[in-house]
Amino acid sequence: MPMALTYGEPDFNAVVNIYQASVQESGEFLKAIPWFYSLSILPGILLTITALSFKIEKLKYSRCYVLIIIVYFCAPGIKSYFKYGNLSEFNIGLPIFRASNEAVENYRQVLADQTLLRQQVAVVDSWDPKPRATAYQLYILVIGESVRSDYLQAYGFKADNTAFMSSSFGVIFSNYISAASSTMTSLLNSLTLGRNGQHETNNNIITLAKKSGFATYWYSNQGLLGSGETPVSIIAMNADKNIFLKKGDYQEDSYIPDSNMLAGIRDGINEKRPLKLVIIHLIGSHPRACTRTNNKYSFFSQSKEISCYIESINQTDKLLSDIAGMAKASGERWSMMYFADHGLSFENSDTSYARLHHDDRFKQNYTVPMFITSSDSRENKVIDQPRSGLHFLSLFTQWTGIKDRLIDDTCDMLSNARCENQDTVIKFNLERAAFSSLPEDVAAH
Ligand SMILES: [Zn+2]
Repeated sequence: MPMALTYGEPDFNAVVNIYQASVQESGEFLKAIPWFYSLSILPGILLTITALSFKIEKLKYSRCYVLIIIVYFCAPGIKSYFKYGNLSEFNIGLPIFRASNEAVENYRQVLADQTLLRQQVAVVDSWDPKPRATAYQLYILVIGESVRSDYLQAYGFKADNTAFMSSSFGVIFSNYISAASSTMTSLLNSLTLGRNGQHETNNNIITLAKKSGFATYWYSNQGLLGSGETPVSIIAMNADKNIFLKKGDYQEDSYIPDSNMLAGIRDGINEKRPLKLVIIHLIGSHPRACTRTNNKYSFFSQSKEISCYIESINQTDKLLSDIAGMAKASGERWSMMYFADHGLSFENSDTSYARLHHDDRFKQNYTVPMFITSSDSRENKVIDQPRSGLHFLSLFTQWTGIKDRLIDDTCDMLSNARCENQDTVIKFNLERAAFSSLPEDVAAH
C-alpha cells in the first residue's frame, strides 16, 4: 500500500527500475515514501486479526452465499478467458490481485526483453568494410522524433523555431522521407541492413562503424526496454559506450528533457579518440508535445498541443545548436547529421483539441527533416531530389566515408543526383506503398 500510494501501479517501468536499482537507488526509493503512508497498512492488519478470530463453522451462511462470492471473484477471469482465449493467473477484478498479476507479468516481460537484448547483441555481424579516408574526426548523428518537416522554419514554416538550422551553413534535404511512420519500423529499416525483405539487426550502423575503426557512443532519451524499444536498443547496446536516461520504456507522460543528455554527450565528444561516431536519440516532439515542453510554448497556433509541438521543435533546434557548440569547442574536424524517424498527421484540426498523432495514411507521416552541417560548411546547399530512409545506409556510408560490399554505393546520395527507388515507405501493417501515391494531410497549419 505505501509503495502503491507513492509510485502508483507496478507497471513495466516500475519493475525495470526496481530490477536494475543499485543499493543506493533502492534506499532512495524507500526513503521517498512518506512515513504516514505506512499507516495505510493498519486497516489490513486489523482485518487480518479480526478474520483470524472468526470461527468459520459458526457462520450461518448457506453454500449459496459461498458460491456467489466465488463467482464474484472468478467472473473477470472467466470473462477474459472467453474474450482473449487465455486465462492469466490472478486475473481477478480486485485491485490487490490485479496489482500482483501486473507485477508478475511485468517482471516476466522485463526478463524476456533483457534476454532478447543479450542474445541479439551477441550475434556477430557480417560487415567487411574497406579502408577509406574519412573527412572528419567526429561524426554526430542526431535522431529526432515525430518531426514533420513542414513545421520547421528551415522548411518554410511561419514561426521562427529553427534559429540554428536556418542560420547554419550546410546541406538541407528538402524531399527526404522516413522509411516508415513509427519509431521502431522506421529505425530498424534505416539503421540496419535489409536483405530479402528482412532487416538484420546485427548488421547495423554501430557494428559497421566499429569495424571501420570508429569509437562509438549512443545517448538516448528513449526507452531501453519495452516492445517498441528493445529492438532499437539492440543496435545501441553494440556501441562502446551507451547511456540511456530511461531504463524502461520511453515514458510517455514524464517530462524528461533531451537536454538532460548534454553533460554525457560533452564527455563523449571530448574523449580523445582518432575517429568517433556519436549517436543521440531524442524523445524530441513525441506526442503529447506539451509533456515534452512542460506545457510551455511561445507561438500559438490552433491549440495548446499544436503550439507545444512547434515549441518542441524549437527545443530540438536549441539542442542541435548546443551540440554543435561542443563539437566546435573540441577543436576537431566534425560533421553533424540530423533527421527525424517519422512525421505525424492531424487529428481534430482547426479545433482547440487539434493535435498531431501517429498515422500511416498521409505524406506528412513520412516527410521529415534531414540536415547536415560541418566544421567546414561554407554555403547552403539544398538537395531536392527524393531520398528515402530505406536507403539510409547508402547515405550514412557516403557521409562517413565507409565502404562495404553489402551497401549500395551506385548513386551519390549527398549530391543532387537522381537516385532510383526513393519512393517507397512501409505502412503500419508492414506493407510497402508508393509515397507519391499517398494523399496530403489536408489540414493546414
Ligand atoms: Zn517515433
